[in-house]
Amino acid sequence: MSTELLDTLVATVGAANVLTGGDLSAWEQDWRKRFRGRALAVVRPGSTAEVAAVVRACAAHGTPLVPQGGNTGLVGGSVPDGSGRQVLLSLTRLNRVRAIDPANLTLTAEAGCILQSIQDTAEAQGLLFPLSLAAEGSCTIGGNLASNAGGTQVLRYGNARELCLGLEVVTAQGEVWDGLAGLRKDNTGYDLRDLFIGSEGTLGIITAATLKLYPQPAAVMTALATVPSMEQAVALLQLAQARLGPGLTGFEVMNGFSLDLVRKHFPQLRQPLPPSDWTVLLEQSDTESDAHARQLFEGLLEAALEAGVITDAAVAETLEQSHAMWHLRESIPLAQAEEGLNIKHDISLPVSRIPAFVASTDAALSARWPGLRLVDFGHLGDGNLHYNVQAPAGQSAADFLRDQEHAVNTVVYDAVMAHGGSISAEHGIGELKRDELVERKSPVAMGLMRAIKGALDPKGLMNPGRML
Ligand code: FAD
Repeated sequence: MSTELLDTLVATVGAANVLTGGDLSAWEQDWRKRFRGRALAVVRPGSTAEVAAVVRACAAHGTPLVPQGGNTGLVGGSVPDGSGRQVLLSLTRLNRVRAIDPANLTLTAEAGCILQSIQDTAEAQGLLFPLSLAAEGSCTIGGNLASNAGGTQVLRYGNARELCLGLEVVTAQGEVWDGLAGLRKDNTGYDLRDLFIGSEGTLGIITAATLKLYPQPAAVMTALATVPSMEQAVALLQLAQARLGPGLTGFEVMNGFSLDLVRKHFPQLRQPLPPSDWTVLLEQSDTESDAHARQLFEGLLEAALEAGVITDAAVAETLEQSHAMWHLRESIPLAQAEEGLNIKHDISLPVSRIPAFVASTDAALSARWPGLRLVDFGHLGDGNLHYNVQAPAGQSAADFLRDQEHAVNTVVYDAVMAHGGSISAEHGIGELKRDELVERKSPVAMGLMRAIKGALDPKGLMNPGRML
């Protein structure tokens, strides 16, 4: 039966785009090297019609499909399981920008377009596509939307969901839904677009999207500032919001150990401020002028310094210095990967609860696992922390993960729930948090999600075992 299916797939997309042998690890292993499966075949369609034909062929043979974009997801949702029965559907050949409409401030791109290439296309027209994250050189817009990615500009522009006006989707039955209209208002029934965004490939295949663009800011200011405590980091956020309003486009926090790891693994990256328990990266985008931006930004930092909210600050004087500051922040996950396997918690909380959460959870973890190393950083402006745990120095990271991950997760997620938070802020559920989701989400919500899955994918062939 699989020979018959493979023959159909070869006839559909060409033999060069149906891979069954050789080293398939680029598709079969996830970015963190935590999940590794085996695909029946890696199939690389080059058009929406080919995606639809592949989905129909797999449906006819009862063969499950795992969609994959850049394979940078962090929850094990983009690689096949170990059965050797799943087709890995790579969307990377769907990589055309189909249209750009400056008057409507929209861009229509195929799912396999690399995020950075979409940013560059918008910039070439003097426009901005604000979705930005450290994996932007390799993640795809299809993957960004399927996981409702967040990133560093959510504070001002929202998640991937808020940046998308329309979708083209191949359904589980192999039909094509064209919902690409770039409308800002459309109340014609259920919001199908929002159903597919964040569905992690479990309901259908996103093949194209119409995205929102914005005017480029006239000036951007970036600074690093050291703060004495998480309480003061939150106070700085309040001050920045009051003084800059919607001009505040980035507000990231990094604990001392996360920057120590960057210092250790990337010593060539200059850190302009001395080590501190907490460092904040702020960004302001201004629609008026350089002079206006600088006056507001420096006024904010002076007021913060006077009030004791920050202890030191370094303002980027050039675009290169600004990029270098962001590069420091974005190097933290890479430094963590160099350090070894770790336990990741991508969580969100009401901003006001974050200091209490961090203080009590740090204490609870350190009491139970003396010497535990906490890599705590993230998008504080969105209430989103990457509250990650590295094994105590000298202990095997793999052994610690195997023996203690569940117990560590219980401490962290119990605290997240007690503070009214979420166990997944922006990375999604995938396989990593599937079982945790059942424990933490209300039975009513789980029932509604299962009903939607059953209605749209009754044979359960779209990325099975992920999310639900
Ligand atoms: P993949 O990893 O290929 O897939 C992700 C999920 O989407 C899978 O479930 C897959 O089956 C599904 N999928 C992929 N394409 C499609 C499609 N066309 N149709 C339907 N389903 C599809 N994420 C954030 O939100 N914010 C961050 O700041 C952030 N920083 C990161 C930094 C680093 C260094 C890394 C490695 C990752 C980071 N991520 C972040 C996670 C990841 O980059 C994002 O989730 C990204 O959106 C995934 O895109 P991708 O193309 O790689 O998707």
